[in-house]
Amino acid sequence: MSQPSILIIDDEADSGSFIVDAATIMGMRACATTRASEFLEKLTEDTSLLFLDLVMPEVDGIELLRILGERQCRADIVLMSGLEKRVIETAEQWAMSLGLHVVARLHKPFRLADLEHIFYRQKATTSAIRPQRTPQLASEEEVCRAIREDEFVLHYQPQVDLATREVVGVEALVRWQHPTRGLIFPDDFISRVEELKLIDDLSWIVIRKGLREIPRFTSHTGRPIALSINISAYSLHDLRFPDTVLKLMRDQNMPTARTIFEITESGLIQELTHTLDVLTRLRMKGFQLSIDDFGTGYSMMQQLRRIPATELKIDRGFVQTMLSNDSDRVMVHKTIEIGHELNMRVIAEGVETAEQLDLLQQMKCDIAQGYYFSKPLPPDDLVQWLQSPVRLPDLSSSSIQ
Ligand code: C2E
Ligand code: CA
Ligand code: CA
Repeated sequence: MSQPSILIIDDEADSGSFIVDAATIMGMRACATTRASEFLEKLTEDTSLLFLDLVMPEVDGIELLRILGERQCRADIVLMSGLEKRVIETAEQWAMSLGLHVVARLHKPFRLADLEHIFYRQKATTSAIRPQRTPQLASEEEVCRAIREDEFVLHYQPQVDLATREVVGVEALVRWQHPTRGLIFPDDFISRVEELKLIDDLSWIVIRKGLREIPRFTSHTGRPIALSINISAYSLHDLRFPDTVLKLMRDQNMPTARTIFEITESGLIQELTHTLDVLTRLRMKGFQLSIDDFGTGYSMMQQLRRIPATELKIDRGFVQTMLSNDSDRVMVHKTIEIGHELNMRVIAEGVETAEQLDLLQQMKCDIAQGYYFSKPLPPDDLVQWLQSPVRLPDLSSSSIQ
């Protein structure tokens, strides 16, 4: 029998079976238990969504979160409790600090509509957008073949200026078009490619492809748009990187100011002593630098000032919780203010709803990117997408607390 992809633990059996019924109506497989031991036994790589009650007599939810963290659980988690809001918020922060992915909080008693909303989003992000997970590790030979046979392709996600409503850039996101395993997403191969020390080869493939494809998009917007490229901090160890990339830009007639290198906050902080010279040289040549996943790497203000970045990219985890979590909303608001004070533009990623976009507009965030506008698209589909005007929700009159 195949394993359920949704797992629920709640000491109130009624509440668990209510969620199972709701999942079944939505065409999803779910299984509920009241016992922690059974919950942990049933949890497999295929479990994509967990519902976790925080208050249970046997093992409480906080203890279970610690075990999930130790197991490096990759499932999306919904925290449930009848306790006051602050308690669930604190539990969520604890879960995030363990590297877990909390997607929603449910206050008991909840309604069918609350569950439907969660399941709908889960379907959109897992089955439609990421049809498969690929736990197998690629061999060196396989990665080398992929490089040789040109199996890496780029999808592009538009970035929209919130003041002008124009598409001002695209982020290139790599995928592996595997001959037998289908389309593989970067979370399933980037760290392996880094481990095999082949990440420089991949970075160059992405840069070359991106530069080749961007003129197609520019010709449809009628305006120049920027190209954002994710670079592993390891690729910035090479002192020749700035010169090599500058030469490529010149060959393609692409101004350096319209190329943004995104480096994750944690990568930057860990590798700062090895990469600061390369980062500075890139800035001197006019390239833009973006601190990706901002807010997750615990960077200190002092370090932030040392990095010659031009852009702060707020991690999607904060964007997705800022409407329901007060501390995340403060974090997003302060990040925007600090970014502006340091003369950086601020971009929010993972924007999925009109409400999130509305709040970001009120907070004076510069740019937004996320499924609200479009998922990352293959080049032909992006060209198609660029033909229609960008729609933003009308700015609400409510004010930020
Ligand atoms: P990232 O740079 O933080 O990229 C954003 C990720 O969020 C992408 O996942 C994108 O598909 C996803 N996303 C975009 N909008 C939304 C939204 O509204 N909601 C949600 N839930 N997700 C959204 P993807 O493409 O699977 O990429 C995962 C990560 O892989 C990237 O995270 C980046 O760190 C890395 N990556 C991607 N391309 C490259 C590359 O060429 N080189 C390197 N070194 N890393 C790459
Ligand atoms: Ca990125
Ligand atoms: Ca990011």
